Amino acid sequence: MTTTDSSPSRDFIRNIIAKDLKANKNECRVVTRFPPEPNGYLHIGHAKSICLNFDIAAEFGGVCNLRFDDTNPSKEEVEYVESIKSDVRWLGFDWYNMLFYASDYFDQMCRYAVQLIKDGKAYVCSLNTEEIREYRGTLTKPGKDSPYRKRSVEENLDLFERMRAGEFEDGSHVLRAKIDMASPNMNMRDPTIYRIRRVAHHRTGNKWCIYPMYDFAHCLSDSIEGITHSICTLEFEDNRPLYDWFLDRLNVLHPQQIEFARLNLSYTVLSKRKLVQLVEQGHVTGWDDPRMPTVSGLRRRGYTPESIRDFCERIGVAKRDSMVDIALLEHCIREDLNEKSPRVMGVLRPLRVVIDNYPEDQVEELEGPYHPEDQGMGSRKLPFSRELYIERDDFREDPPKKYFRLAPGREVRLRYAYYIRCEEVVKDEQTGEVVELHCTYDPKTRGGWSSDGRKVKGTLHWVSAPHALKAEVRLYDRLFEKANPGDQKDVPDFTACLNPRSLEALTSCRVEPSLAGAAPGSRCQFERLGYFCVDSVDSYPEALVFNRTVTLRDSWAKIEKKAKK
Ligand code: ATP
Ligand code: MG
Repeated sequence: MTTTDSSPSRDFIRNIIAKDLKANKNECRVVTRFPPEPNGYLHIGHAKSICLNFDIAAEFGGVCNLRFDDTNPSKEEVEYVESIKSDVRWLGFDWYNMLFYASDYFDQMCRYAVQLIKDGKAYVCSLNTEEIREYRGTLTKPGKDSPYRKRSVEENLDLFERMRAGEFEDGSHVLRAKIDMASPNMNMRDPTIYRIRRVAHHRTGNKWCIYPMYDFAHCLSDSIEGITHSICTLEFEDNRPLYDWFLDRLNVLHPQQIEFARLNLSYTVLSKRKLVQLVEQGHVTGWDDPRMPTVSGLRRRGYTPESIRDFCERIGVAKRDSMVDIALLEHCIREDLNEKSPRVMGVLRPLRVVIDNYPEDQVEELEGPYHPEDQGMGSRKLPFSRELYIERDDFREDPPKKYFRLAPGREVRLRYAYYIRCEEVVKDEQTGEVVELHCTYDPKTRGGWSSDGRKVKGTLHWVSAPHALKAEVRLYDRLFEKANPGDQKDVPDFTACLNPRSLEALTSCRVEPSLAGAAPGSRCQFERLGYFCVDSVDSYPEALVFNRTVTLRDSWAKIEKKAKK
């Protein structure tokens, strides 16, 4: 499905908002928010939510807040806050001065909790965690009232104040909403509002030893910030009655919660818990490992913000969960890089070629355009000499049918250079491995074209051996072997589905000299091999490291073509 229509009614969320505006709801304001918990790096699923919230705000003349949902101090870190900010910015979005933290509202939330107690809508419960679970019942069995449910308002106020003052141990008391222990919706069975946790918070330090639970903190943060449309993923559908309950009981500004289907991507996991596990157990080199579906991993791999935004637009928003083919994401980056990337030549697995009839000390400067369709990108000089490297794969001693590359006695074109013919094959005496080819060139084919109309079927990329730069090239494959690694019934641990061949590092590659000093993060297409970018962590001007972003073969385009037939 390709959505290019940018009218505000292209999905059900935009429809709701357009209708609200027409009805003058919320005084015609639109305020959305992106509310990450700073307990990990952002992934491509978050990017979907970011695009949705920021784009909607922009389209309807509203604003989108960035709010850190930092209510769980034990898992949260400043490092995550900083990475999230820089990832949102990199994706191309701006929260202006609308940067907030749920922890900024702790005082106000506490006052709201006191108000619920005074209204008889909340009580301090002294069951332990285990007992609370037992009393809660199950999906098929109603829960039982806690014996502390009938505590008086005065006793509750006193206990809650002492919880806050630090008089009690972790887990000895919690504050709970008094709703309905028999509700078919488990979320409504007297959910916990506050718990005691003697943990320092990355922003409030040791000021608090009680922390609000997500369901309480989230709706109140939305309300305090004047959010109009609180867009979240489908798992929160059953939490909506609770979201509404808190806001109705407290009689405060009431944003509308709207759920959409989260992004699931094939051959990928998009759960922070699982991504943390990959990092902590060393299955990847870090959050920004180029195989990770994190924004920082995709960036390091060579993805552009434009391609990720394009992907998020194409997948659209729906009400039902589904799995998106990772080939679509790859298609989006190919389309973008096809336009933007200069074409250059690099040889991954070099095979030495000696041109016997080329003068020994001669070097010619040939020229190749950086882009076949975009002359504005200019061109670069390609030194040509007697000794070259070609790709090992581009030579076969016994070529199979339809193999049009180099073979003994056969002639091919070297891109932008000359026709060459293979005259002799030199092998390692011990192993039988081909170590060098001796060829002749035809001086009348300069530029790669023959004046006598003689045709060749193969065109190879190459570099001049004395001029080429050494480089490391990292080739990536899918991180997982199964399309749905997070949901394998027969495999108890998703890490068992990891693809052992997801990274292949080639350390003796040769690239053309125009790449000298290539800046970290810069991108190019190595002709015939794919799109690459200079690694932003391990590459140095004198020791280049390239990541392959994506190959040239577009399986999504094929799928689309088939679907159209
Ligand atoms: P995870 O399930 O990966 O741990 P989370 O929902 O706990 O993610 P948050 O930091 O709370 O992570 O997410 C911030 C926002 O991003 C939320 O509004 C959430 O709904 C949204 N989001 C998270 N994962 C996805 C996804 N796969 N697709 C779309 N939106 C997502
Ligand atoms: Mg969450």
